[in-house]
Amino acid sequence: MSEQAAPATQPSLFDRFERAFMPNYGVPPVALARGEGTRVWDVDGREYLDFIGGIAVTSLGHAHPALVEAVSRQVATLAHTSNLFLHEPEVLLAERLLGLLGSPGRVFFANSGTEANEAAYKLALKYGRRHGRGHFVAAENGFHGRTIGALSLTGKKAIRDEFGPFPVDVRFVPYGDAGALKEAVTGDCIAVFLEPTQGEAGVVPPPDGYLVAAREICDATGALLVADEIQSAIGRTGHWFAHQADGVVPDILTLAKGLGGGLPIGACVGFGEAGTLFAKGDHGSTFGGNPVSCAAALAVLDNIDLDHVKRAARRLRTGLEEIGHPLLKGVRGRGLWLAAVLAEPAAARVQEAAAQAGFLVNALQPDAVRLAPPLVVTAEEIDALVSAFPTILTEATR
Ligand SMILES: *Cc1c(COP(=O)(O)O)cnc(C)c1O
Repeated sequence: MSEQAAPATQPSLFDRFERAFMPNYGVPPVALARGEGTRVWDVDGREYLDFIGGIAVTSLGHAHPALVEAVSRQVATLAHTSNLFLHEPEVLLAERLLGLLGSPGRVFFANSGTEANEAAYKLALKYGRRHGRGHFVAAENGFHGRTIGALSLTGKKAIRDEFGPFPVDVRFVPYGDAGALKEAVTGDCIAVFLEPTQGEAGVVPPPDGYLVAAREICDATGALLVADEIQSAIGRTGHWFAHQADGVVPDILTLAKGLGGGLPIGACVGFGEAGTLFAKGDHGSTFGGNPVSCAAALAVLDNIDLDHVKRAARRLRTGLEEIGHPLLKGVRGRGLWLAAVLAEPAAARVQEAAAQAGFLVNALQPDAVRLAPPLVVTAEEIDALVSAFPTILTEATR
């Protein structure tokens, strides 16, 4: 028997975290212990409403009975096979995704968003070799991940410059500018990587028609259109996939975050030629598409109610828009994926004041606070945030 240790308190965990971990994250402000639906509790027993959902990941909220049941049953039956053996949950999940997508395609499962993009990147490299093409196009301020491949496509100087130069030719264009895209995408372009709405840049939707224009530009030049829907898909915008709102089908689609509802899984889907580019042995993952994560994802897809997402999204957006507060300049985003845009760079203070008031939100940019609650968030929970928000904003201006 181990000695009975006193339950850890937040201050002690902050201190131990700081000593045990690399400093890349800094010390997070809250130490969470458990959750249920949209509610979470910190290790000191304080309750919060979770309006960030593990960065748009916990689609069904915390400890959803269907997710708990699916994961528990699968881990007790068969937790891992590696890619040496197949299992039914991965087949069911791939078929299910293709059914929701509605276009013929092929799936590769990874463990994360970054890995899904690495698969997309390697597919694109094969396409470039096959067709004698040499450069990539991606968007300024875009985010595609932290591994060297995904990072080379990431247009945020602050996170890439320390690790460059990268051994690929990636040309960055201003996001949302179809003219600039048209100029950069020549017959030499292998692929265009775009988020349908930029997430990490501040939940920034493009002007109407941008994705349609990107599709047309790629069709005209033969470049692949890669939609990075790692943050935007799986019901987040009120559609299964954000690109469906534009009636556009990408050549390659990447998914992760909300797909596993908290279990790690990423997916790369190739349509048409892009789905057939990998030959046997070209790519792989030991854990990718493991049975437990696939069972979780199937439970997520079975329990998302898009009509509820749309209703909840309208309520949250309208509620925030009706707040007349000098610090709140506006609201942007799509579905249950919004940024409260501030009149000054006070997002960190808003995040802190919100936590004090019992709400978890995310200071995404100096002037943008991200809200991405579980897709099961209730009307009452939304009303609680909306009615607390003016006081939170005032606290943040003090
Ligand atoms: C989060 C994110 C990634 C990286 O996903 P990880 O699971 O953190 O590797 C890539 N692209 C977009 C658009 C994201 O939001």
